[in-house]
Amino acid sequence: MQTTLQALQADIAKLPVDAIVNAANSSLMGGGGVDGAIHRAGGPAILEDCRRIVAKQGGCKTGEAVITTAGRLPAKFVIHTVGPVWNGGHKQEAEKLANCYRNSLQLAVENGCRSVAFPCISTGVYGYPIAEAAKVAVASVKAFLEENEGMESVVMVCFDGENYEAIQAVLNA
Ligand code: ADP
Repeated sequence: MQTTLQALQADIAKLPVDAIVNAANSSLMGGGGVDGAIHRAGGPAILEDCRRIVAKQGGCKTGEAVITTAGRLPAKFVIHTVGPVWNGGHKQEAEKLANCYRNSLQLAVENGCRSVAFPCISTGVYGYPIAEAAKVAVASVKAFLEENEGMESVVMVCFDGENYEAIQAVLNA
């Protein structure tokens, strides 16, 4: 089955997909940007789940992912992944960013999700150049989908026009 892969300019917290991905930080205790928007809209149940994960495994490393309830969001799950902070491009940022997408999709599959929405991880306060991040994001998602069946839809959610144009450009290349 062919998976639909598309860009959408939207607020990720509003999407009725099986799992939305959060660009979290390693503490999993919430933050600004998309993280703040997801916790605000989803309510305290998400943070409660995050606290349980922290108690068990002590946070989440860069490139890795964990899954929680979506609280009162229309999605079923929130997958929290920690993007790399941009540091000039020679600190394995691309590899770590690709791991975020791959590990999130892996966790989605393991939890029976067939539709997943991603934000443009690391392109906010973590400072990853937008065009570069778009290339890594799309390549990582495509590579995963080539090796895994059963995902119906992956949406790359862009909050702003610049990310939307960048993702569209890579998808149409
Ligand atoms: P990071 O720390 O990984 O850079 P940010 O949350 O600062 O995370 O930004 C990641 C991306 O998420 C940015 O492109 C930002 O514009 C976008 N973003 C912010 N709020 C939302 C939202 N509600 N839905 C989707 N994307 C969002």
